[in-house]
Amino acid sequence: NTRSNSLHETDIAYQLHPYTNARVHEEQGPMIITKGDGCYVYDSEGKKYLEGLAGLWSVAVGFSQPRLVEAAAKQMSELPYIQNFAHKAHAPGILLAEKLVEMTPEHLTKVFYTNSGSEANDTVVKFVWFMNNMLGRPKKKKFLARNKGYHGITIASGSLTGLPGNQRGFDLPAIPVVHLTCPHHYRWAHEGESETEFTARLLKEAEDTILAEDPDTIAAFIGEPVMGAGGVMTPPEGYWPGIEALCRKYDILLVSDEVINGFGRTGQPFGCQTYGFTPDILVTSKQLTSSYMPLAAILMTDAVYQVIADYTAELGTLGHGFTAGGNPVACAVGIENLNIIQEEDLMGNAARLADRLQSGLRAFSDHSLVGEVRGIGLIAGVELVRDKATKASFEPAGKIAAMTAKFAAEEGLIIRNIYETIGICPPLIITEAQIDELLEKLGRALDRTLEWAQAEGLK
Ligand code: PMP
Repeated sequence: NTRSNSLHETDIAYQLHPYTNARVHEEQGPMIITKGDGCYVYDSEGKKYLEGLAGLWSVAVGFSQPRLVEAAAKQMSELPYIQNFAHKAHAPGILLAEKLVEMTPEHLTKVFYTNSGSEANDTVVKFVWFMNNMLGRPKKKKFLARNKGYHGITIASGSLTGLPGNQRGFDLPAIPVVHLTCPHHYRWAHEGESETEFTARLLKEAEDTILAEDPDTIAAFIGEPVMGAGGVMTPPEGYWPGIEALCRKYDILLVSDEVINGFGRTGQPFGCQTYGFTPDILVTSKQLTSSYMPLAAILMTDAVYQVIADYTAELGTLGHGFTAGGNPVACAVGIENLNIIQEEDLMGNAARLADRLQSGLRAFSDHSLVGEVRGIGLIAGVELVRDKATKASFEPAGKIAAMTAKFAAEEGLIIRNIYETIGICPPLIITEAQIDELLEKLGRALDRTLEWAQAEGLK
């Protein structure tokens, strides 16, 4: 296939890729995906893959959804772009905002658009600072976040992210942030510590940190209800209500980063509903448009909005906004995408199929490579270990999960290796039969990984 070969060479010649070892890439080149259809994608050689990660935790309605194609084409031909600065607006932006307020928890009543999750979280930082300046408390600027949390890669959002791999070499964090312990019992509990004790310790750590730093300096707590890109960690019971209580006690804003969780991923519409807390600010992206178009939306309470609005009146304007943020085509695609999610009851599908996926994956707990299987709804992580008893990881970190991802791709399944964990997050349209296919292919990939590890003397 000469075309794909030449694309291969051209890619190596011209692109620097995110999250890619450039030197390895120069040797092996890219997997070029040329077509998508429902839960499947096809590469340039015509090989078919079940997309077990929904693109990047994104493609709720599946690939090449004709209604989204039509919505984009229609908006593109009617009004591809207009600004929404300075008292201008367009119908798709207005109608999507209305829909978002309807779909999200009741107390969230205003919407601000950006192009990406990272920009949205940077915007949240700026809005929180803006508010506290307005309220005459300029010292209240610090954020609390968590180790292993992922909030993006721009200067502020990358600072909130608690993953060394995103900070190494970039001089981050560059804003005042304190990272608390990751609420993941398997990896972060002390020897013999029960889940209840673990939760109590984490809440005490959070309160001690607030007091040590001085509550008058802590502006907000940000977290993903279920942590995604850090390795799919589900929090222990009582964790989120405990965090919310601390936020209320010390006048700290609570931000739910639902860029992955939002729109049904956890089996309920939003992760904050799954875990029973009420954020002041909620961030969505990814499944908002199924990533067909770049778009993120920040939802806020009326209380947050009113402070910001007062300050814009005092200063004369909100000095913040993105040229293409809330682009009409992106918003039109967002509306149609959310219509499909509602009409086809895809959030209900995630809830109905959760058990098939989660119990199917938990059946791998007996596999000699598998340390922990975790997840909720249609998102899951399978953590690989060298030694199940001691939970010791393989060295070098991440190599073994990368092999599983490679074998899975050979079996026709795309998954993500996150350090030692296999991330799984299929489109919300997935069927029972496709979940079984995913489990079967993953099982073969795990068996092949074990054979490989044994041959390499790693296991
Ligand atoms: N927050 C979370 C929870 C995410 O998972 C991501 C992306 N993986 C982001 C923020 C950043 O979004 P983007 O890649 O669109 O900048």
